[in-house]
Amino acid sequence: MMAAIKAGSLAQEVILVDKNPSLGKKLLLSGKGRCNLTNASDLDSFLKRFSKNGEFLRDAFKKFFNQELMDFFQERGLPLKVERQLRVFPVTDSSNSIVNTLEKELLKQNVKIKLNSKATDVLVENNQIKGLYLEEEEFIPCDKIILATGGVSYSFTGSTGEGLELAKKTGHNIVALRPGLVPLVVSEKYIKTLEGLTLKNIRLKFGAGRKEIISEVGELLFTSFGISGPLVLTLSAKIANWLADKKEVFADIDLKPGLTVEQLSARFLREFKTNAKKGIKNVMKSLLPIKLIDLFMELAKINPHKKANQVTQKERETLVTLLKGWRLNISGTRPIEEGMVTQGGVSLKNINPRTMESRIIKGLYFCGEMIDVDADTGGFNLQAAFSTGYLAGESAAL
Ligand SMILES: Cc1cc2nc3c(=O)[nH]c(=O)nc-3n(C[C@H](O)[C@H](O)[C@H](O)COP(=O)(O)OP(=O)(O)OC[C@H]3O[C@@H](n4cnc5c(N)ncnc54)[C@H](O)[C@@H]3O)c2cc1C
Repeated sequence: MMAAIKAGSLAQEVILVDKNPSLGKKLLLSGKGRCNLTNASDLDSFLKRFSKNGEFLRDAFKKFFNQELMDFFQERGLPLKVERQLRVFPVTDSSNSIVNTLEKELLKQNVKIKLNSKATDVLVENNQIKGLYLEEEEFIPCDKIILATGGVSYSFTGSTGEGLELAKKTGHNIVALRPGLVPLVVSEKYIKTLEGLTLKNIRLKFGAGRKEIISEVGELLFTSFGISGPLVLTLSAKIANWLADKKEVFADIDLKPGLTVEQLSARFLREFKTNAKKGIKNVMKSLLPIKLIDLFMELAKINPHKKANQVTQKERETLVTLLKGWRLNISGTRPIEEGMVTQGGVSLKNINPRTMESRIIKGLYFCGEMIDVDADTGGFNLQAAFSTGYLAGESAAL
């Protein structure tokens, strides 16, 4: 959409083709329906949030970065707000308003919108684009094509990888596709009972054998098969790489990262002494989310019907150890379909970063998630799509 808007604004005849009956299906889902369209951090901090390859975007960001994107929407009557960790959202809290603004601008720039139209092939003569084939033998003659068909996850939104197939067919290298920002699967069967539980301000430490992979504090969400939430999604690309190397990966959860083992032991002792006559499950309510109490009694092998003053010192220590390092074994990631973003895609070696044009076929441009660039949550992926789209639109038009 951004590529078409920019090309249209330069007085070119532009046709936007999408196989869906409406535009921006994935955009509507983004940011839990609120669309975290960019991040207000400075360029260097921004680039650090890309899993690799961030440097490739420098030219696109120089041309059209977060301030320009924010101005684009605000100048068209959609105010924005900056939330925690500099995430930018529309004040409407609705991704609908982002899609509506883009649609209005497409019309203003006289872009012809062709919905329910699937691109099936490109016509190339002497290494130069000559036209686009659509389903049912429809053909659009043209000398420029911008492919912006997305990754391969959440395929019901339209991103099914056909554009990547076209790129491959025309001689471009496709870097292996892997899930990015994806939930992790845990071996422990009991995990299912915790579905829906959120733990805030916990430390999650991933390791393999004796090696620590990464450790960070944040929010964790339990699902029917494992763990998710912002912290896990952010760390998932790294973990996926370790799992791909056939390493046995575990996650240790520290439920009280603000307290040392000694401080937590003292807190336990105090609680157990003050509430000596109360049942242990009752006392644990001040130390653990209710949903975890039965499970922790089982893991620590403590009779849940005991009174606080019947709990032995050893049992208390076992509980403290569990709270400071509850181990889950990671058996894999969820499939690529469930990744919020696709890692891999059209190789950057085949794309000119100053124009987004293919280095192999003249008149063919790439932008958005289909290129081999992906980032953390926080608005970075959409900014990359908008910026590369803007640059591709401008270069193709000029
Ligand atoms: C649940 C979810 C939440 C997200 N939230 C955020 C967020 O808050 N912030 C953020 O920065 N990123 C977020 N992302 C990532 C972000 O949405 C994507 O990176 C972004 O949408 C990529 O844009 P794109 O235009 O490259 O591809 P897409 O948005 O996938 O669009 C590709 C389009 O191409 C069309 N298409 C595909 N093949 C063909 C064909 N053969 N012919 C015609 N049309 C075709 C599709 O129908 C689709 O409309 C989220 C992703 C998901 C799944």
